[in-house]
Formats: sequence, C-alpha cells, structure tokens
Amino acid sequence: MINVYNYTLKELEDFFLSINEKKYRAQQLYDFLYNKKVNNLFEITTYNKDLINKVSNNLSTDKLIIVDKKESNDTIKYLFELNDKNKIEAVLMKHSYGNSVCISTQVGCNMGCLFCESGTLKKVRDLEPYEMILQVLMIELDIKTRISHVVIMGIGEPFDNYDSVIKFIRIINDSKGLNIGFRHITLSTCGIIPKIKKFMAEDFQVNLAISLHAPSDIIRSKIMPINKVYNISDIMNVIREYIDKTNRRVTFEYVMLYNINDSKHEALELSKLLKGINSYVNLIAYNETSNINYKRSDKKRILEFYDILKKNKVNVTIRRELGRDIDAACGQLRSKYYEEDL
Ligand code: SF4
Repeated sequence: MINVYNYTLKELEDFFLSINEKKYRAQQLYDFLYNKKVNNLFEITTYNKDLINKVSNNLSTDKLIIVDKKESNDTIKYLFELNDKNKIEAVLMKHSYGNSVCISTQVGCNMGCLFCESGTLKKVRDLEPYEMILQVLMIELDIKTRISHVVIMGIGEPFDNYDSVIKFIRIINDSKGLNIGFRHITLSTCGIIPKIKKFMAEDFQVNLAISLHAPSDIIRSKIMPINKVYNISDIMNVIREYIDKTNRRVTFEYVMLYNINDSKHEALELSKLLKGINSYVNLIAYNETSNINYKRSDKKRILEFYDILKKNKVNVTIRRELGRDIDAACGQLRSKYYEEDL
C-alpha cells in the first residue's frame, strides 16, 4: 500500500479520479493531512464512511515512531524509527527567524567522509519522499509550532537519492500543504557534479550548499573520498555555471578539523579559490566523537581562519553552536543508539 504522504496534490487528484471520486476530494485530504494534521483518515470529517473505507483500502497513513529525543537549549534531536525498523535522525533548530529542521535522506551514507559518523554507517537504502516529509510534519506536531525552514543536510547524500528528494521539496513547498517557501529550503551536497547540473535546470530557487571542507585536492581527497571522482576545480567550474544560470549565492560548508584543514595557509588558499564567486563560507566547529580520531579546531585557530577570509573579502560566518552536548552532528545519535543496542 502506498503511503499517502508520498503523493503530490496532482497525484492525489488523479488517484481520486481513478476511484471514481471527484478531484476536489484531494484538496480536502491535503488540508486534513497538512493543516489539520489528522492522525488517520477516520478523523476526516468531510468524508463519509464509504469514502474513508475506499481511500484507506488504497492508501496508508503510517507515521514514523519517535524512539528518542534529546533536547538542549534551542535544539532538539529526534531519532525516528521507520516502518522497516531502520532508524534515522532529524534535528530541530530554533532560530530568531523561525524553526528549521535538518532532515535525513538515506539510511546510512555511501560517501564515506572520514570525519562523519554517518559515513561509517554504510547506506542501507534511500528514503522515500513520505519518510522525509514525516520528519518535518512530526516535529511540527511535536513542538506545536510551524516549521518555516528545511535544511537537507542530515544523514545521506541528497543527490544520491535525487528523484525522491526533488519530490519531497515539491510536496513541502505546496501552498495547500506545509507551504515552505523554496527560498527557505537549503540542500547540501558533497559535490555530485552531474546532479548539480540537473538541479540548476529545475524550475525552483532552492538554496545550494557545497560541503567543501578543504581548499586543495590533497586535503579534500584525504577526508572526502568523493573528491577523487569530482575534484575541486570541477566543482568550482560547475558552481560558476550554477551562479551564472540561477543568479543565486552558493554556500560552502567548511568543518574545522584541527591540524587538517585549519591553518593560515589553508585560509589563504580558500580565499584564492573563492575569489570572485558569489558565495559565503560557513565555518563549522567539529563535533568530536569517540569513534573518529579528528579533533576540533580550537577557538583561536577558528578565529584566525575567519579573520584571514574576512581580510580577503570572503563572506564568512561561524555557525552558531547548536546542540554540541546532544550529539548533534549528523549520524551521531543514530550510531550511539546502535552501539547501545549491541
Ligand atoms: S558528511 Fe554527508 S555525504 Fe559525507 S558521509 Fe556524512 S552524511 Fe554522507
């Protein structure tokens, strides 16, 4: 049975026509799912029993299960169980401009970035759109406040699950549903070039972030195996093309790893690399974990790095530290759960 949250509004209209019902039933259903947030079809007051039975014979409304939740200041980390018992994570971050949810797109990840806990958990499968939508919807239900921003930056490489991620984006954007503006959605990739090209041809203006994490191929290939396939100069070329075409600013994520990518020399190299590119750099303090040997750069090194970028006219911010004490780096809660489980 197909999960109802997998459908776009147009697909639901086609579904109702296929069961000899009127198209407007789809809009009613969308309203109950995303605005009134019903738990099941039997709560839909505008449907009679026959219609409810007809729909529920074809569509399921199964949700995810929240199996763990860790809260700290402005952050809540959720561990969800999927219907097949696999587990994924999502993180809620409360900002002054609204509530943002960082979602996972796969169970595990095959990209193998050496500093990332998710990279140690091989991909088991891709998530379906409904499993991404429910991460947002269930957090909204849990905190009883609207989610205004979505960041596609949790477990998984979104461009390794391209079609489902694009469908997810379209469904959460629907003004009759969750109504999250395209400009309030950010997708982060480790740099899968053919998919960046496909993405720039889409008819929407979703923000793009690149997990760069190093200014040279020597360092990047050591910490991100994908760099051996798509190197920095190829990524920069496609990003220039992306900016020309979309006129949008690109974010470069840069996790600060002590003595790996955080020296003055690397700050200068990064400044040169980004010269003339409409972008900004997000410096991220690394969340150390017991399973991985990389260390977090100290504050002094991060500030020196930041100053060099600033002096060289690179737009740069240091990401506000959210959730360090609750394992908020991607994959950390999930892998901890599995360790405790063993
Ligand atoms: S950083 Fe992202 S792409 Fe790299 S292994 Fe982790 S989840 Fe995958």
